[in-house]
Amino acid sequence: MALLELENVHTYYGQIHALKGISVTVEEGEIVTLIGGNGAGKSTTLNTISGLLRPRQGSIRLLGEELTRCPAHEIVAKGVVQVPEGRRIFGRLTVQENLEMGAYLIKDRKKINENLERVFTLFPRLKERRHQVGGTLSGGEQQMLATGRALMSNPRVLLMDEPSMGLAPVLVDSVFDTIRQLNEEGTTILLVEQNARMALQVADRGYVLQTGEIVLNDSAENLRRNEMVRKSYLGEM
Ligand code: ATP
Repeated sequence: MALLELENVHTYYGQIHALKGISVTVEEGEIVTLIGGNGAGKSTTLNTISGLLRPRQGSIRLLGEELTRCPAHEIVAKGVVQVPEGRRIFGRLTVQENLEMGAYLIKDRKKINENLERVFTLFPRLKERRHQVGGTLSGGEQQMLATGRALMSNPRVLLMDEPSMGLAPVLVDSVFDTIRQLNEEGTTILLVEQNARMALQVADRGYVLQTGEIVLNDSAENLRRNEMVRKSYLGEM
């Protein structure tokens, strides 16, 4: 059974039919990427999984259990956690306070401290800046913080929305190194990226989304070789 499964999901914004019956599976331990141009529906897909948007039709399941009508906080409690586009950290809270917000469902202080240490091991920079307010961090540090905040709740599946957006090339590399490392430590990842080249390097499999429909679905290796993907998403002639 797939860890996460979307079956024939339709999502609307009013009259706008943004997802037109998409089906996606993510197996335990995988990195799966959704690639597509602006407005293809990538963020809409993640926001529908995390319960920020409601599908009008279709089913979303975690290990066979229906998530479709769960409120967003229950979806987090079940282990499906989003790292939102644009980081969305709490600018006036310190780094540590931001991280602790990510653990708000955990009552056991010892567990919270363990998770904090895990995040600080992954991102030593956040440890150095733990008392600094989030709004004063650089873009790369804010991405670390948004990722760290999501990890504080021990997710089974991380939904990452454009983690490399707006970052300098050297930081983009480190974002993808982190994704690899998290996955090696056992986190399953559904990754949305405009940077298809990098996404297809870390991913096991990928889906190509065009105007709300999946037009291709294959191993990352095959997608990297696919002529349409190379022309449209990898900038090759
Ligand atoms: P981007 O990389 O630009 O964020 P995306 O693939 O994530 O692109 P979505 O943001 O999911 O695309 O948008 C899918 C479609 O839904 C687009 O046609 C977009 O205009 C529309 N859309 C997105 N958000 C809203 C909204 N809040 N209200 C109305 N339409 C929306």
